[in-house]
Amino acid sequence: MSARHFDHYFDDLWKTEVLECPKCHWLGTFEQGTVEYFDQLMDCHCPRCSSLEAPMLAIVSYPTLEELRSNQDKPGIREYVQRIDDGFDKFEREKLREPEQLPEINEDSFTLAWDNDHSNPDDRRTLIKHRDTVIFSEPARWEEYKRFAEVAEILKAKYGHRLKDLVPTSRSEDWLWGDKLSAPDYVDSVRERLREQSRAMDTGEQIPLF
Ligand SMILES: [Zn+2]
Repeated sequence: MSARHFDHYFDDLWKTEVLECPKCHWLGTFEQGTVEYFDQLMDCHCPRCSSLEAPMLAIVSYPTLEELRSNQDKPGIREYVQRIDDGFDKFEREKLREPEQLPEINEDSFTLAWDNDHSNPDDRRTLIKHRDTVIFSEPARWEEYKRFAEVAEILKAKYGHRLKDLVPTSRSEDWLWGDKLSAPDYVDSVRERLREQSRAMDTGEQIPLF
């Protein structure tokens, strides 16, 4: 028996349909089973069979933004798509794009902090700070570790070898990493290259950041 496959948002069947385990004949809904979440889908295994042998009972796949757009006539989806589009537009309007947007920092050597302010849930911000001063802020993105690299590159273009590191604060880690298990290593490698490049520029060598 193959697992039942549902589409999230397009029908609510996955919430109500009773699934049956082919091995032990457990009966229950998706949410009553053992649910695991992944980037593109969530799946449900039998909660009663021993975990190694528990059959997968169902998969719920998340739609792509394109699928959502083409289903905007369905209840709730238009608002959902609109919120996503507004978020993109706002980010595009307000994001750091070039070194000229950054202020001068008159120090020979400094580090910057990657911080955030989520005190307003409708306007979550990622902050770049020099000590206690916010030198730039832009809308926060979930799982923004790739954005970290883009911002690091712009900061480097502005401050050159004087910038020694870009240090994430502990409260920024949730959103910086999201659910991506490899994100901390990715961020570490960006920081390592920043430090290496800074050392090399001190001695007149040129190493591209990315
Ligand atoms: Zn079972």
